[in-house]
Amino acid sequence: MPTFQDKSVLVLGGSRGIGAAIVKRFAADGAKVTFTYSGSPQAAEQLAAQTQTTTVQTDSADRDAVIARVRDSGPLDILVVNAGIAIFGDALEQDPDAIDRLFRINVHAPYHAAVEAARQMPQGGRIIIIGSVNGDRMPLPGMASYALSKSALQGLARGLARDFGPRGITVNVVQPGPIDTDANPADGPMKDLMHSFMAIKRHGRPEEVASMVAWLAGPDASFVTGAMHTIDGAFGA
Ligand code: NDP
Repeated sequence: MPTFQDKSVLVLGGSRGIGAAIVKRFAADGAKVTFTYSGSPQAAEQLAAQTQTTTVQTDSADRDAVIARVRDSGPLDILVVNAGIAIFGDALEQDPDAIDRLFRINVHAPYHAAVEAARQMPQGGRIIIIGSVNGDRMPLPGMASYALSKSALQGLARGLARDFGPRGITVNVVQPGPIDTDANPADGPMKDLMHSFMAIKRHGRPEEVASMVAWLAGPDASFVTGAMHTIDGAFGA
């Protein structure tokens, strides 16, 4: 029987990149998957048709919409929060509204989604948030808001693991390094600089991140919680 046969999975931000790889992995492993998108309806609908999953538009910047989506999708066996954005540039020049929107998507949505999911989640449920190795190490200027947001997820996992552990629900953060997606293409202008920090000098593949997520979501990871799981070719080592 496939590992996730008939498990109910919600992926926030699943239309492209790492999120799409996670949707494909759970669907291939037998789960009933719903995923959200915001700005890419075509990609979302194509992926849903290809994987026989369900997609719904939900802007992760809208707290109440995120909470309603999680509530209406429940009870969930597995919640994955993947949606995230980065803003690059001089901190002195950045629009504070844009920075606050980043915090809503990258920090507030994961927190509220995780809490809402836990209300209905059965024993043994899984909450997995996609953070970043930049939560541990930020070797470049111009990305403080992103690094801050990904560091905040570490506190989220440590704290909520305590809240939900007694019910057998685990809370973990996956921290990728450079992964080949629209947001960070393997042939982008920063590739040589990024690879210079790494022991394995290439971008990771979205499927490699999805494999780590699948392991954390599966029965072998039942004692793993409140932890950060870095998959970065030693970018942060
Ligand atoms: P992409 O930009 O390629 O894809 C982002 C995904 O998130 C899309 O499906 C997008 O949907 C969704 N999303 C973005 N904003 C929103 C929103 N407001 N509401 C709902 N969905 C949204 O990014 P990646 O796949 O590269 O990144 C995915 C996650 O991995 C992020 O959290 C990112 O920080 C993290 N990460 C990525 C790394 C990398 O090198 N690629 C490295 C470390 C961490 P839509 O297009 O429909 O809006």
